[in-house]
Amino acid sequence: MNTTFEPRLHRAAPDELVGRVIAITGAGDGIGRAVALACAAHGAEVVLTGRTVGKLEKVYDEIVAAGHAEPIIAPLDLEKATARDYDALADAIGTRYGRLDGLLHNAGLLGDLAPIEHYDVPLWTRVLHVNVTAAFALTQVLLPQLRAAADASVLFTTSSVGRRGRAYWGAYAVSKFAVEGLTQVLADELHGTSSVRVNAINPGATRTAMRRTAYPAEDPATVTPPAAITAAYVCLLGPASKGMTGLSVDAQAPRER
Ligand code: NDP
Repeated sequence: MNTTFEPRLHRAAPDELVGRVIAITGAGDGIGRAVALACAAHGAEVVLTGRTVGKLEKVYDEIVAAGHAEPIIAPLDLEKATARDYDALADAIGTRYGRLDGLLHNAGLLGDLAPIEHYDVPLWTRVLHVNVTAAFALTQVLLPQLRAAADASVLFTTSSVGRRGRAYWGAYAVSKFAVEGLTQVLADELHGTSSVRVNAINPGATRTAMRRTAYPAEDPATVTPPAAITAAYVCLLGPASKGMTGLSVDAQAPRER
């Protein structure tokens, strides 16, 4: 493979994702919403999962109004979901499609920006659960559907603070380090034994509710909107990235900060 290949610069063909079923967590808002719309625009059948059904319904309506393939809504609160909820999602995908070609773990919880010395222990547990354990459990339950696809892609969401620790980013940073580790372990396990590839993506600074919470003094107009970073996602979830596995990729050009 060409080592200078940059998913963020990928220009997807209009029909690049036709015939692909792609599930996205946290699809109702922010980056997940933008990636769901982009995947549908390139022909994918999208499985919209998230915890706020009203938001998922709006994304569903937008996709249908644009004339794209009808998505399905699969509500799943990653903080509260039980094994039965995960199984129900896997069954719904298996019954309707018989396979899963792409799985984007996008949902995330920021938690508090606080020193480790004072970090609230229950909040730490919630952040690690939503950002890491739930993504692990969802991947595990969907692996049979991913293996049933000819060329499936699992994409985890990392962050710059998951590659180099930063003061006060606490559970969030630690969870993203874990996501990087989970990506590498799973990629290594599946490499050579299946056609499922596993990568991580760092969206970079993106204008969403999470970004506003983390940087309340920042002018949102200076931050890249979610719709502008979807090229790398479409590339990594689709056929253009076939053969890439175990990588941690940036959706935007690196910034100074
Ligand atoms: P948002 O806060 O805008 O969106 C997060 C999404 O995750 C929402 O749809 C939210 O659902 C969903 N979510 C949160 N908790 C749960 C839960 N318990 N169960 C199911 N869904 C849940 O964040 P972003 O779009 O900014 O973040 C998307 C991903 O990108 C995250 O993993 C984040 O860590 C990462 N990231 C973002 C950056 C940025 O600058 N924005 C930079 C680096 C990484 P609901 O709408 O119902 O609240």
